[in-house]
Amino acid sequence: MKSMIGLEIHVQLRTESKLFCGCGTNSSEPNSACCEICLGMPGSKPMLNKKALIFALSAAKALNFTISKEMFFSRKTYFYPDLSKNFQITQFEVPLGLNGKIKLENKEIGLRRLHLEEDPASLVHSGTIQDSIFVLIDYNRSGIPLMEIVTEPEMENAEEARELLKSLRQIMEYLGIFDVDMCIIKADANVSIEESNFSRVEIKNISGFKDIVDAISYEIERQRKAFREEGVIRLETRGWNAEKRITESLRQKETEDDYGYIFDADLTPIIINEEIERSIINVELPQHRVKRFMLDFGIAKEDAEVICQDKEISRFFERVSAFADPVLASKWIRRELTRVMNKKGIKQPPQNAENFVKLMDLIKSTKITERTGQRIIEKIFDDGFNVEEHVQENNLSALPTDSGIDELCRKAVAENPSVVQDYKNGKQEALNFLVGQVMKATKGRADAKKLREIILGII
Ligand SMILES: [Zn+2]
Repeated sequence: MKSMIGLEIHVQLRTESKLFCGCGTNSSEPNSACCEICLGMPGSKPMLNKKALIFALSAAKALNFTISKEMFFSRKTYFYPDLSKNFQITQFEVPLGLNGKIKLENKEIGLRRLHLEEDPASLVHSGTIQDSIFVLIDYNRSGIPLMEIVTEPEMENAEEARELLKSLRQIMEYLGIFDVDMCIIKADANVSIEESNFSRVEIKNISGFKDIVDAISYEIERQRKAFREEGVIRLETRGWNAEKRITESLRQKETEDDYGYIFDADLTPIIINEEIERSIINVELPQHRVKRFMLDFGIAKEDAEVICQDKEISRFFERVSAFADPVLASKWIRRELTRVMNKKGIKQPPQNAENFVKLMDLIKSTKITERTGQRIIEKIFDDGFNVEEHVQENNLSALPTDSGIDELCRKAVAENPSVVQDYKNGKQEALNFLVGQVMKATKGRADAKKLREIILGII
């Protein structure tokens, strides 16, 4: 049985200042970045942050939206303490973008609308919302630019939602309008199942990529179980409890009309003129880059996809591949370079591609073994590191086959008769042990494949 999922995704845009005032977006001291405009004091006048507009337009273009040539902002009635002016400035009647789409591996998901709005303040409870005896409000968040993207309810499982979010994040990172470490992402999800004839349940305010997917998975299972037991799914709004990893009932559904939108006369209508159009960011998008890498460099789709997940790594690959074997480089960047970056907590590939290019040449020409290469790559981020000098100084060149390897192999066989017997009895791993012994003796400078051949010749 199918399920049906639609998302309203709120993405914080990577701007230095808020959507309608000059307050910064990166203050940690609570209530230190707020002014009369983002607090909505009488007489204060908001002014649109042009960068936020350009960023949202760039996303709209990359996601194939039809961009409105003229648009305006509306006030949405919002009577909660996290927006002190009692309304939220958003776009309702004419959104910035209409009818976009995003491509997943095997299908396309329609995107209904894209618009700009301000984020409310953050509410801080002691412990959980239910048992907290007070609530603190930090208005630093109030007025931070959010881009809202509403998808059609066309995803059929949590996996497709994950794919959509991943693709969206990559596109935004390529455009440079979103920073996963600095910017928040929140979503409301509509989830329904075929069994109940797609009776809609909304889950409000889920934060972070992982939680959005987890909340959807949980909710599908919950509805299936509830339907089996009660034969009906109630239309309702639920919340995601990130600690307990469950959704909980909040209230009966309300409709958009309940919010009473009115035109915001403090903000002038926005006309997308030529000057603004010229500022729209135009970059090669990840899906296109994957195809180009496969075509131009002949690398595997799987490798291209992993490399292109990160804009900087994909650029690094391109720089390396101008001088080194692209297929070899793709494997080494995908597996080894990212391994070292994760281990060391480094976000960016090396500034200079030269050492990596030399490393690829040494491996390709079998001047060093792959195992030596794996060790050398650990040092590639060190200041002043030079691959060739390092190989020379530490005597790391691969051993030629006639340099006493035979002798070492014979020694390993002679010293481990029981292991040899194990191998003869059909235990394949026993051979790896013998190869490992010789490897150790040569400090990883011998070629493992050759060692296998030699050892098999002896036993
Ligand atoms: Zn402000």
